[in-house]
Amino acid sequence: MNEIGNDTYRHQGLRRRLVELLKKKGIDNDAVLAAIGIVPRHLFIDDTAFQDKAYEDGAFPIACGQTISQPYTVAFQSQLLQVGKGMKVLEVGTGSGYQCAVLCALGAKVFSIERHRPLYLQTKERLARLGYRASLYHGDGYAGIPREAPFDRIIVTCGAPEVPQALINQVKPGGRVVIPVGEGGVQHMLLLEKDLAGAVTRTDQGQFRFVPMLADKAS
Ligand code: SAH
Repeated sequence: MNEIGNDTYRHQGLRRRLVELLKKKGIDNDAVLAAIGIVPRHLFIDDTAFQDKAYEDGAFPIACGQTISQPYTVAFQSQLLQVGKGMKVLEVGTGSGYQCAVLCALGAKVFSIERHRPLYLQTKERLARLGYRASLYHGDGYAGIPREAPFDRIIVTCGAPEVPQALINQVKPGGRVVIPVGEGGVQHMLLLEKDLAGAVTRTDQGQFRFVPMLADKAS
């Protein structure tokens, strides 16, 4: 049996319950809820001990000491991003590929960058196997992906000490950047909106917890 075959009625039922929970927690964007409802999150978690908890609203360990983001956080960031079909979206911090798959399910053309080579390789294989057509890169997200810029939207899924200027430069006028900023245990989710004249406004959308965005050479 292939892994798609492992998406059972039981998993589908658990996902419907997760979608109801996210609605109760305030997620109200129908496209985002539908995307969470179809992406098989249990297939993005390697550790079988945690697979059973895939549809609980928690963050779990993945390879290289990283984590798969909590479904609420994925939904919250995706909702803030306001992704339209066909938009070019840059994700920094591919990790398990779950957020990337949700963006694909929203109809985005996704470019995602990861600094840990083993994670990049594993997730590239996983997304292809599950039928998600994202472009994955191994490298340092602080630089963005200049040769693919500009992007309609940019989402960062690790906690940055500040907003990297390269990412602001690489978002189109009229575009949005969603990025958790702050060192230590807690980050503030910032929404940056670039107007058509290129001016950028920032709003604080609340506190979250992320693994750090690291600046040293990718491994
Ligand atoms: N979006 C992921 C979340 C993974 S955790 C998911 O849905 O599973 C954040 C990821 O950001 C980690 O895999 C970490 O290795 C990566 N990361 C940290 N600093 C980075 C950087 N400078 N460039 C690219 N990726 C980075």
